[in-house]
Amino acid sequence: MKTDNLETSIRYIKGVGEAREKLMAKLGITTLRDLVGYFPRAYDDRTNIKSIKELIIGENVCVRGMVADTPRLSHIRKGLDLVKLRAVDESGSLEITFFNQSFVKDALKQGEEYVFYGKVSGSLLRPEMSNPIFERYHDNYAGQVTGRIMPLYSLTAGLSHKIIASAVRSGLDKCADELPDVMPNDIALEYELCRARYAYENIHFPEGFKELEIARKRLIFEELFVLVTAMKFMREKRTKKVGRSLTIPNFDEFYEALPFNPTSAQKRAIDDVARDMSSDSPMNRLIQGDVGSGKTVIAAACCYMTWRAGYQSAFMAPTEILAKQHYQSLSKLLEPLGMQVGVLTGSTTAKNKREIYEKLSQGEIDIIVGTHALISEAVQFKNLALVITDEQHRFGVNQRSLLTEKGDSPHVLVMSATPIPRTLALIIYGDLDVSIVDEMPPGRQEIKTHLVGEHHRDRAYGFVRKLVAEGRQVYIICPMVEEDEISQDSSSNNLKSVKEYYETLSKKIFPELNVELVHGKMPAKKKDAAMKAFASGEADILVATTVVEVGVDVPNAALIIIENADRFGLSQLHQLRGRVGRGKHESHCVLFQSPGSGEISRERLEVMRTTNNGFVIAEEDLRIRGPGDFFGSRQHGLPEMHIANFATDMQILNQAQHAAEILLQTDPKLEAPENQKLEAQIKRLFEINEDKLN
Ligand code: ADP
Ligand code: MG
Repeated sequence: MKTDNLETSIRYIKGVGEAREKLMAKLGITTLRDLVGYFPRAYDDRTNIKSIKELIIGENVCVRGMVADTPRLSHIRKGLDLVKLRAVDESGSLEITFFNQSFVKDALKQGEEYVFYGKVSGSLLRPEMSNPIFERYHDNYAGQVTGRIMPLYSLTAGLSHKIIASAVRSGLDKCADELPDVMPNDIALEYELCRARYAYENIHFPEGFKELEIARKRLIFEELFVLVTAMKFMREKRTKKVGRSLTIPNFDEFYEALPFNPTSAQKRAIDDVARDMSSDSPMNRLIQGDVGSGKTVIAAACCYMTWRAGYQSAFMAPTEILAKQHYQSLSKLLEPLGMQVGVLTGSTTAKNKREIYEKLSQGEIDIIVGTHALISEAVQFKNLALVITDEQHRFGVNQRSLLTEKGDSPHVLVMSATPIPRTLALIIYGDLDVSIVDEMPPGRQEIKTHLVGEHHRDRAYGFVRKLVAEGRQVYIICPMVEEDEISQDSSSNNLKSVKEYYETLSKKIFPELNVELVHGKMPAKKKDAAMKAFASGEADILVATTVVEVGVDVPNAALIIIENADRFGLSQLHQLRGRVGRGKHESHCVLFQSPGSGEISRERLEVMRTTNNGFVIAEEDLRIRGPGDFFGSRQHGLPEMHIANFATDMQILNQAQHAAEILLQTDPKLEAPENQKLEAQIKRLFEINEDKLN
């Protein structure tokens, strides 16, 4: 028996030659598995077959009719050939015209019956159809392209629905008995899921809409089931452990060192973590709070408690800028209390790195703040008892666990500043305990958001000058980095290259102001220098890409202008907007909509104008864009979904969640023979995914 038929290259599929193989690769289809798993994005309902008398102008419909005369070819002018004919049934006659399809003249024969599918035009007395799709009608007619529901696929230039559909057809025939199927039998029975063969057949070539629904349900269920089982399975590996119970210290000293009074939401969260860390199983807590709600203090309190108990903490942030900023605020706060704080990022010099490694292993550093440089093998702790990750969804699933493995079942605190819709949180964070920081520090002003177009540009620049004259600072955000990235993206003619734009702003528009530039591809030193200049107030304007999206804290900044705002996800915009309104100054966010970006993006951006609540925005973002793009790009460590939609398939998600729980209770290590396919699929998904992340 061939075991890995599904991994067969599509080259061996009938109708797929070298050229199509390349085109299909563009769609991510290289193996038979990819091909049969390339689900239609929509369907064209061609089931409705009417008689000519019943036709309604404007509808898309099938008509069965006999070709009444010999099709006439006429050459109108260069580049325009017409084939005209008349089709008739008992009820009437239909004029049909084909433009530039002269082969039809011989394909359609007088006196034969066909089914035509197309849009009805003309008038009721004289109905017409242009360029219909057609096929012969005969006694055992079973429509291939008419009289049925047709799959519509996401295409690329050179591939039509028909080409893909016929490749899928051959593909399905080739692996009919070995279709991907990881559902354990009991679960399929319990949730009334159809068999894989039925599901794949009907998702591509549905018999009817009822059959399509049954197929969809099974495939969505399977996809979500694999995902949630995987998340639970991986978590299982780390939670079945005994944790280190730390003594709860008197926090008075800590609170007194703060430059402000903690909010009651902050205090509550600190109580939560203190309770967790003093229990004898490892803490696994998520701190969810909107931008600016003051989560850093909570992290600091955790580190303080850990230090008082005699252990080390590690604090991982997703970007260098953020890591350095956390380092600064934590050392300012905690060093006066006697703690040693260190920082480790990709740009730390080799010499410094060695020194830090040494100090960490000797226990001379109490908290190390850093980027994923922290998970490097060389990093060894003396006694790591607390791992904090900020903006956790930006780390891959494996990256998270690599850091925790450096300690002996350390306590884990996750801080998410991107409010996450409950559905997604359920999946990404599984059954973490959650503390919600639902209160802003006092004195914050609501940020005023303005949605504008090009004609507001001069006014916006005028506003920048006015605010700078008042002593404030301004961010100007662009979506992209370099010209070559722009030229690769054909839809981006209007996009501003951040470098070019910086030149224009600093030399032409604001020559009298101090403008700095920061973007992800800059050497760390230059980035630092620019950030420092802005943080210290020396620079008036910071032109930046989304590197400043998370966490950057300059309370004197009172205006953020976001160019091509429609190119960002809403949650991302919310993050960006959170860069202002961090101090006592009235703050504004100006969103420039790209010329010609349309009504839908306007509607989307309108959400930003109407609410400052990150959770509301997150739900909306998920609803509009789906989870694939939820975090701006695929950085949340979840594999791409092919058919499930977290926003709309909530009910199936709940069922899958429940099924996964029961399965893992009976077979926690996925060792049973009937669960082997499932295990293999989990491995396949997450290995691929982690590779992509790095
Ligand atoms: P985030 O939750 O977005 O990480 P931060 O921890 O960066 O928020 O805090 C945002 C700003 O609010 C910082 O400048 C911080 O010093 C300040 N801050 C935090 N807590 C309070 C508080 N209780 N009262 C006043 N200011 C606070
Ligand atoms: Mg933060």
